[in-house]
Amino acid sequence: MAALHFDNTFLRELPGDPETGPRRRQVEGALYSRVDPTPVTAPRLLVHSPEMAQALGFGEADVVAPWFAEVFGGNRLLEGMQPWASNYGGHQFGHWAGQLGDGRAISLGEVVTTKGERWELQLKGAGPTPYSRTADGRAVLRSSIREFLCSEAMHHLGVPTTRALSLVGTGESVLRDMFYDGHPEFEPGAVVCRVAPSFIRFGHFELPYARGDHTLLRQLMEFTIRRDFPHLEGSGEALYAAWFGEVCERTAQTVAHWMRVGFVHGVMNTDNLSILGLTIDYGPYGWIDNYDPDWTPNTTDAGRRRYRFGQQMQVAWWNLSRLASALSPLFAGTEPLQAGLDWYASSYATIERRMQADKLGLAEPRSEDDALHGQLHTLMAQAQVDMTLFYRALLDVDPARPLPTAAMEDAFYDAALRQRFDGELRDWLVRYAKRLGEDPQSPPARRERMRCVNPRYVLRNYLAQEAIDRATQGDLSGVHALLDVMRRPYDDQPGRDHYAARRPDWAKEKAGCSMLSCSS
Ligand code: AMP
Ligand code: MG
Repeated sequence: MAALHFDNTFLRELPGDPETGPRRRQVEGALYSRVDPTPVTAPRLLVHSPEMAQALGFGEADVVAPWFAEVFGGNRLLEGMQPWASNYGGHQFGHWAGQLGDGRAISLGEVVTTKGERWELQLKGAGPTPYSRTADGRAVLRSSIREFLCSEAMHHLGVPTTRALSLVGTGESVLRDMFYDGHPEFEPGAVVCRVAPSFIRFGHFELPYARGDHTLLRQLMEFTIRRDFPHLEGSGEALYAAWFGEVCERTAQTVAHWMRVGFVHGVMNTDNLSILGLTIDYGPYGWIDNYDPDWTPNTTDAGRRRYRFGQQMQVAWWNLSRLASALSPLFAGTEPLQAGLDWYASSYATIERRMQADKLGLAEPRSEDDALHGQLHTLMAQAQVDMTLFYRALLDVDPARPLPTAAMEDAFYDAALRQRFDGELRDWLVRYAKRLGEDPQSPPARRERMRCVNPRYVLRNYLAQEAIDRATQGDLSGVHALLDVMRRPYDDQPGRDHYAARRPDWAKEKAGCSMLSCSS
């Protein structure tokens, strides 16, 4: 293996906690605490991402070597690694929660590759840190498989996301009360190595703001701009404003992608929003089967559904407004921050319009198309139509004969609803065909435009759960197969129809398939 080059700027350039080790505490005036991963009994590599390994400079021989599982299970450090846990706060479900921090994530270091890419390597589930509060710092296999698979699936779907290098079984068990109903059970433990250019969250800025520590706040902002937004030019408030505007735009882009592919984050607390606009913290997330803007997979949020599918754009705005408040001491007035928030709303509208048009294969969107999209969304919601299957079926609509196709029939979950909405479906297809006729694009170009934005395969909740059930019995083939399918989500993959099928009835109300808690 070629030696990895670590430069650990977060550690070198920002103030740290003078105390080291995992004693739980409030950490003031510091953005991180030095703490080592707690070794595990029997680290074993369960699955890895070949693309991520390659990007970091690991060969196939490295990945299968015993030291790889030891390092990425938390038992051993490579030269240059200097583990730390970072310090942040956050608004959880709308309320300020104070200091949170990396309670079970430990960064090993920041690698700079020969290509000049920066990748921070972070173990999730690596044992207690000063930020673990009352919890154990560990993670269970089921949630680690979900994080691993979804990070990579999102990447291949073209959605900005943190990545995953590896999933290591620890050989230890972890006690969890999955539904917080007084029935704790031991489950197998695991550690994911997740990877991103930066793990800085909105909550990193909120904590020094809440504590009135404007010096630390400014240090963090200047560091973030310098390291993670090096293309931004200028200085002082103009630079800060440009930076905030870019954070807003990236957030808009990511949320628009979520809506495009049918992803529900599930816990959009401000500590779970990345300053780079990456999808981060895969917990009780879910994928839309039948199109339902009110759906959330998170049972912890079932009452108010704050983080439901159709509300993600508004929630991100609220989170950005919390970030704006946190940054306000660094601005003379609030106008630049307000301008950033306005920019978020207008960028989102532009990006969403473009993505919606692409999903329908329209090269030249018009404002009147909003009605066409709106009618389709209403139809899909009322008739309980599978979002992924239906959009994919639209690739094969013949504008000269706009009739329901067999692939479209497959997208319906309920025969009675299919019957009831037959007229609406046919009317909509006629309107759609007419609109296609007015768009100056050849049929092959239209089909290709649609293929690249309407995935054939997404990480349906029940597919992940099937793979988890088998992995819990010691059979990892389901995890490997799913990872492989999700590497090419826009291609038709012969023999893999099972992975594109709509959710089976048994999965509708099953734990893990539709209902997930924050327990992980
Ligand atoms: P999450 O809901 O996963 O975003 O986590 C919210 C906060 O709780 C973060 O500060 C996490 O680090 C912390 N946390 C979650 N699970 C654990 C755990 N098992 N041990 C320690 N800290 C945890
Ligand atoms: Mg979190």
